[in-house]
Amino acid sequence: MIWKEILIRYGELSTKGRNKMDFIRRLRENIRHAFADLGHLHIRTERDRMFIAIQDETQMDALLKGLPKIFGIQSFSPVAACEKDIDAMKKLAITIMDTFKNEQQLTFKVEVKRTDKTFPLESHAIQREIGGFVLPQYKNLSVKVKKPDIELRVEVRHDATYMMAQVIPGAGGMPVGSNGKSLLMLSGGIDSPVAGYLMMKRGVRLEAIHFFSPPYTSQNSLEKVKVLANELTKFGASIRLHVIPFTEIQVLIKEKVPSNVSMTTTRRMMLKVADKVREEIDALAIVTGESLGQVASQTLESLTAINAVTNTPILRPLISSDKLEIIDIAEKIGTYETSIQPFEDCCTIFTPASPKTKPKLEKVEHYESFSDFDELIERAVKNREVYIFPKKEQEADKFADLL
Ligand code: ATP
Ligand code: MG
Repeated sequence: MIWKEILIRYGELSTKGRNKMDFIRRLRENIRHAFADLGHLHIRTERDRMFIAIQDETQMDALLKGLPKIFGIQSFSPVAACEKDIDAMKKLAITIMDTFKNEQQLTFKVEVKRTDKTFPLESHAIQREIGGFVLPQYKNLSVKVKKPDIELRVEVRHDATYMMAQVIPGAGGMPVGSNGKSLLMLSGGIDSPVAGYLMMKRGVRLEAIHFFSPPYTSQNSLEKVKVLANELTKFGASIRLHVIPFTEIQVLIKEKVPSNVSMTTTRRMMLKVADKVREEIDALAIVTGESLGQVASQTLESLTAINAVTNTPILRPLISSDKLEIIDIAEKIGTYETSIQPFEDCCTIFTPASPKTKPKLEKVEHYESFSDFDELIERAVKNREVYIFPKKEQEADKFADLL
């Protein structure tokens, strides 16, 4: 096997000092966690880059497939190695450049660094030898010194010669966990998993909360949410899902609150419950999939009336996104197919025919004041069920079969 290691370039690293160390440490842990199946990985970190030693082809394949999903990586390059012998080096250069042989016209240069000064050829000579050997063998290559498409980097170190040319884009963002923890309100819809993904991209570790109203919502709709939670774990961290029994509260709202503001009250109660769970799990913020104007509960007036139940920051990464933009991301991250499965969520069933788009906070508070919601909220929080993801493959398949 020619591959020796993978070089990883860090993503957005504007912060300095301690934070930078935390970023690097977190990224290393997330990589270990994501590839735990591969056994212990040898990872060497430097200020600006990280190296994962490659032991065999299986490891290489798994890393090439999985690294583009890990937040905090700008780009990465497979690094090959050979003996410190000019013929071996030429041969390896060809193996590497073969990766590009089916592409369009490309510009190219060879860049040499000679760390081992005892090597008989000096840098320029190595560059000429390798460049002169490679160039005539590919019709789609021409030399360009400034900003070529491909830079074949050759480094003659003491133990061997290292070479790389491919630069594979990473997911960008920041390592999950480097920006604290938030609670994601996860429905079975298209938006909330995307909102969760975007926060993970900014380094936020998630727990999720789902409101479940049996028998008005089916077991299948809950299984769907579990699949979504499990799918989000692919982006770098485990997720705990808190499932809240919400029927009692919804029934009371339907009985006691006029139907045109019942949606607002439902959202307010959800947020109150979420805030209590958030406090218990030491999360700093709540994340939702709300997008301005998408439905009656997402006008600025509605959001204001809903938000009034708490001072906790509510993060709404999709607030300015169009539905089509959200769908694009959902397809890219693999949650779309699950989200469009047609199981009602708890709100479809209780949705009033004509919800107010401009609810008045004082009125909503007035209607709510005749019932003791707090006791039901305490009970819902206490009686929640908690699931941990990722699920083992087998069990995840079982959920998928249900859909
Ligand atoms: P989504 O596609 O995420 O369901 P939506 O466009 O259907 O969003 P709503 O149903 O109004 O919008 O929900 C707005 C947000 O409220 C959701 O994105 C989600 O964060 C939260 N939410 C709604 N229903 C639930 C639920 N049953 N459990 C947890 N969170 C929910
Ligand atoms: Mg929804």
